[in-house]
Amino acid sequence: MPTQEGAGPALNVVMLGPPGAGKGTQAELLAKRHRLPKISTGDILREAVQTGTPLGCIAKATMEAGNLVGDDVMIGIVQERLDRDDARRGFVLDGFPRTVVQATALDAMVDSRGPLVVLDIVVPEDVLVKRLASRRICSKCGANAPAEWTEACQKCGAPLVTRADDGEAIVRERLKVYQRQTRPLVEYYSARPTFRAIDGNQRHDVVTAAVDGAIAAATATGKAAL
Ligand code: ADP
Repeated sequence: MPTQEGAGPALNVVMLGPPGAGKGTQAELLAKRHRLPKISTGDILREAVQTGTPLGCIAKATMEAGNLVGDDVMIGIVQERLDRDDARRGFVLDGFPRTVVQATALDAMVDSRGPLVVLDIVVPEDVLVKRLASRRICSKCGANAPAEWTEACQKCGAPLVTRADDGEAIVRERLKVYQRQTRPLVEYYSARPTFRAIDGNQRHDVVTAAVDGAIAAATATGKAAL
């Protein structure tokens, strides 16, 4: 049952997983079901690049090389976003934290908001490379295009494009960066009672059901652990 506005405890979710694991898609569905904001740092950065803001200018070259934007910049963006009213009942974070420094900062930010439920979406590397090579997004609204969308975005009608950082060489670099900087987060979080690993190499709806089950189990355990 989705929590009603203002009712029930906060649900604070972090989606972990390598590029292409499907965490953005699952984060969006989960956020809708619980009427929470989905906060995707990748989307925030891509929008800044597209509109040419100062943040976009800082981030563009870094993202296109497959590297990570600096921790201070990212922590500032997320802090500001979590301070907004709509995140008071909780949030679904997609793409943040990506380093242990960011995870430590997030713990400090949510200290008084109840436990973080951390879901790690696990997918083998060869599957990721294949998925990323064929991934297309909407050039206007950034929606991930499922295979049945042949030319235009079915949400807003704009053309579909390949993401600037989805070329094979950059994908390999992003996966390396993930192993080096983001994978250590699994160790950072895995001892918590609210951590769950999910097999992301299954049909989307099966993964969605697994996400729901993991949230239910983790929140029950999280309450018991408080
Ligand atoms: P992916 O599909 O690789 O998970 P995202 O859409 O989450 O990608 O992010 C795209 C790019 O934006 C990353 O490769 C990185 O350059 C930058 N980025 C997004 N979130 C962060 C973050 N928390 N810290 C540093 N850089 C980030």
